[in-house]
Amino acid sequence: MSQDRSDDVRSDYDVIIIGSGLAGLTCANMLARGGRSVLLLEQHHNLGGLATWFERKGHVFDVALHGFPVGMVKTCRKYWTPEIAGMIVQLKGIRFDNPQFSFTTTYDREDFTGILEQRFKIPRENTESFFDAARNMSFYDDQSMTTRELLERFFPGRDDVHRMLMEPIAYANGSTLDDPAISYGIVFSNFMSKGVYTVQGRTDRFVGKMREELLRNGVHVRTKCLVNKIIIEEGQAESKRAAGVMANGKAIRSKAVVSNGNLLSTIHELVGDEHFSKGFVAEGKKVRLNNSSCQVYIGIRKGERIDYIGDLLFTSEAEKFDSQELCSRNTTSRTFSVYYPSTRPGSDMYSIVASSNANYDDWANLSEDAYRASKEELIQRTLDALEKYVPHIRDKVDHLEAATPKTFQRYTLHASGASFGTKFEGLKVSRGLPKEIRGLFHTGSVGIIMSGWLGAANYGVIVANDADRFLSSGAANV
Ligand SMILES: Cc1cc2nc3c(=O)[nH]c(=O)nc-3n(C[C@H](O)[C@H](O)[C@H](O)COP(=O)(O)OP(=O)(O)OC[C@H]3O[C@@H](n4cnc5c(N)ncnc54)[C@H](O)[C@@H]3O)c2cc1C
Repeated sequence: MSQDRSDDVRSDYDVIIIGSGLAGLTCANMLARGGRSVLLLEQHHNLGGLATWFERKGHVFDVALHGFPVGMVKTCRKYWTPEIAGMIVQLKGIRFDNPQFSFTTTYDREDFTGILEQRFKIPRENTESFFDAARNMSFYDDQSMTTRELLERFFPGRDDVHRMLMEPIAYANGSTLDDPAISYGIVFSNFMSKGVYTVQGRTDRFVGKMREELLRNGVHVRTKCLVNKIIIEEGQAESKRAAGVMANGKAIRSKAVVSNGNLLSTIHELVGDEHFSKGFVAEGKKVRLNNSSCQVYIGIRKGERIDYIGDLLFTSEAEKFDSQELCSRNTTSRTFSVYYPSTRPGSDMYSIVASSNANYDDWANLSEDAYRASKEELIQRTLDALEKYVPHIRDKVDHLEAATPKTFQRYTLHASGASFGTKFEGLKVSRGLPKEIRGLFHTGSVGIIMSGWLGAANYGVIVANDADRFLSSGAANV
């Protein structure tokens, strides 16, 4: 059953999952495969969360489909279907162009080592030991070392090398040079193993196949169902337990609840501070949201073509890598994701999506007129930058549209339009929820490592296992 209503759901489930981001979807699939009764509630009319799309004038624009590590193939094969895994292909042309360097790479360890040796004159053994150090990092490592310190240790004084190694990861998960080195090392190593991958086809088809699989496994899927509250009841010995949700004003009961919404709104709004210990609320208040994004969607008119300029272009006019410049409203640092007909078999149309990191506060408080003007300015600056790679771009386009942090907030309910949930410290708080309230779990973008398509899907599996263990333990019945 997959419908836009909540009036015909059952009155009781083993698990209710709030939100259909890649973590929520994967968690729902795993629990249903294990024989649990699962209700998945999504406030938007599409499944997918940030992994979403929209159609204009025959173009399908993918919002968050720019690249992920090869691990997504294994994750999809194991926790979804071979057919879904089979949609994933490698992107071969990753291009960098900024005042410090310009080259195209397959973005894997072998190619990077060669580039570092030949262009940047870094001895192979230095690069090898850096890769080994990054690959051997684990969540349980010392978290006090920052990415800046890590890069400085292996490549002292080489801000060009730091930029090459850091910039794509800053786009991929919002991390900065001052975040813990492990949040960089783990994600970087995931990419370095075999390069950058994408879905051949479109996000709508990929998520559509996930929806089919959920339905096959018996998940009750409901879209346009906003969860307003998680129902908390007193259990034994004054402990508290999650007992269901209020969705579209209706109570639906369950033995466990998994929230895939933003961690902070899960704690402060869906549950409410009064249900947690003071210490937990204090720790939750220290969790920082990640930055947001801006995007410009560029549709190339049917019949027009563009030459191959790479699949993913990291471009910037900034003299040096600078996390603040990257998020500023006038940033010149952006990625262009180019979708050729070959990326989309069956289509003869091209489209380009430009993405940049952004601060919510730069956009949130503008007057309506100023907001509209800023969006137009964003579009025009993006076209100016693209002109270098696609001459006469303005003559080729038939659709232009921009998204800002406000857009991301509106469609996903992430506070401040956070693109990657919370910063690193959110992971501990996310993992701590079931210790505070029995049967309450959170999954989804937290802590950099658990965000992005691969991180979110894998976190969905981890939390499905936690919830399954909880349901089997009998603790759900007391
Ligand atoms: C511009 C941009 C580009 C990106 N590019 C990439 C990329 O190239 N590669 C990559 O790996 N990652 C990328 N990402 C990040 C990636 O898309 C996300 O990290 C990942 O999809 C997040 O999944 P999630 O499970 O955390 O949930 P989310 O996608 O955050 O979804 C949460 C869902 O919960 C729903 N929800 C929230 N509250 C409620 C409620 N109260 N009731 C009902 N439903 C609710 C929301 O509507 C939403 O559908 C990008 C992100 C952005 C913004």
